[in-house]
Amino acid sequence: MLAVPGCGERDCTECTSDTPQLCARGHHSGIGQDGFNALYGTIDVRGAVHVPGGVTPLQAAVATDAVLTAYHAITRRAEVKKHQTVFLFGLGGLGFNALQVVCKAIGARVIVSDIRQERLDAAAQLGVPLEDIVPVGKSVQEFVAEKRLTIDTTLDFVGERQTFEDAQHIGETFLPDLSLDLYAGSADLGNSFNSVRIAGKMVCVGTLSPNNIMHMKLGVRKRLSIIFSYGGQREDLEGLLELMARKIIMPQVEEGHLRDFPRWLQDLCDGKVRARVALTPN
Ligand SMILES: [Zn+2]
Repeated sequence: MLAVPGCGERDCTECTSDTPQLCARGHHSGIGQDGFNALYGTIDVRGAVHVPGGVTPLQAAVATDAVLTAYHAITRRAEVKKHQTVFLFGLGGLGFNALQVVCKAIGARVIVSDIRQERLDAAAQLGVPLEDIVPVGKSVQEFVAEKRLTIDTTLDFVGERQTFEDAQHIGETFLPDLSLDLYAGSADLGNSFNSVRIAGKMVCVGTLSPNNIMHMKLGVRKRLSIIFSYGGQREDLEGLLELMARKIIMPQVEEGHLRDFPRWLQDLCDGKVRARVALTPN
């Protein structure tokens, strides 16, 4: 089920603005309110979604958050299209699902970056060409410049200061001199401009660093769109479950027991959890 389906009332600003996941009035199952760990509970029927055959309960459990958030960010906020090239920061619990949405469901080219070799290996196993994988320790800007890539959209599932900087700056060696008057030299921009392209998008989902720096002149000069994304909606959940039933999206999930919750929490803090864990009561 969808944790936050919204209230659906006509006088609700969020629910009538296509952002029911931000509705404060409706029931929030397991997010700020009890509801997900009880053996029995009442739910808002508007949040109940049919799980198609072929999707296991464990997969369905992670679909409602880790896949949903990635899917919504990519399809509804970034609006990634098949002909585009996307740069993806972070292949963790959400990012690895994002990778599958971009390269499997949409079919767009995706360049991936992570500080863990094991996650990059997993991306390669999924079918990402080695030439589209930034080696651990390699400068993102250098990689993009050397490959002469034009990135339409960055998807940041990390949100560290470094990834936010990289998203703004990749390919800056090819930028025209930004110290020039803001509107001088515009004719040169089309030549070897090689970065998050002019009028490109930066989509932010990860929040590891509470504060990041936005370079105003860079953003204005490139007419960047910086877009934030949060959660997802019923139609998203139905769409991605269908993709999971067809094995196009296969979320990584480990199974654990609820009684071991403290140990799983410690493993999470120690960075030992690769993607997502679903804890079952029996
Ligand atoms: Zn509402």
